[in-house]
Amino acid sequence: MKIKDKVTQYYPNAQTGTEVTETYLALLEKEYKTDLKKMLFATSVCSDDVNVSTDFRRVLSRPFTMGGLGGLPYAGYTGMVAFSHHIPDGGDAFIFYGPHIGITDEGELGRMRRIGQERITNSCGALMLTLERFKRSELTPAYTPLNMYYDTQQYQLEQSLMPYKHEILTAKHQNKTITDFAYSVIDYQLKYIVAMAAKEFSCDRIFLLGGVVINTSEEYNDYVDVRNFDVINLKDEGDNQPLSILTSEAFKKL
Ligand SMILES: [Zn+2]
Repeated sequence: MKIKDKVTQYYPNAQTGTEVTETYLALLEKEYKTDLKKMLFATSVCSDDVNVSTDFRRVLSRPFTMGGLGGLPYAGYTGMVAFSHHIPDGGDAFIFYGPHIGITDEGELGRMRRIGQERITNSCGALMLTLERFKRSELTPAYTPLNMYYDTQQYQLEQSLMPYKHEILTAKHQNKTITDFAYSVIDYQLKYIVAMAAKEFSCDRIFLLGGVVINTSEEYNDYVDVRNFDVINLKDEGDNQPLSILTSEAFKKL
């Protein structure tokens, strides 16, 4: 069985990173008439060095890094505001986001053979660590104020996935399921932060491309299972009111 067949048995719509890059850059240029030279690119993907599966950064310069362990947008509201202030005049914003999962040559998900290594390691390591801790039923794994401070991303990742612990642990494919929930969490958080910062953007449009990156061994292409492509028109006032907890009715009545 080819690696493509092994990937598509779990992710039927996955395409190679190169295909996804070419497809969406062409779409942005031809359909949306964006000037790629004026596009500011941001990512919310895991810190893992394996996350170069798409080629966007070869075409689009200066990625603004929102993400960290697991791919959550840890740069948060402040990071999004900074990104919004850096977009070239007359340009657009483009954010690529999502978790990643390895696949071995034998088709096992959650693990991979990395460049220059014989052995198999976890991918995404942070998500697989979260899963292991969920399996051991650690409520919050030995977090003291000290290591919450020095391991804050892993702590936040585990906290964010905690509401889905039961569904993850009772799933048939736990490695895939925790990655799917990580995608949902990243998607929600990123869109929330974009909405919070909407008024700060000087550009007219924000393009959001989300998916699960599937890491393969060195000799193969990596894959991306695209889950979302959004175009936010910032001039469209009605749809893009910035979110703030301060404006909620419940907050006013505290
Ligand atoms: Zn990772």
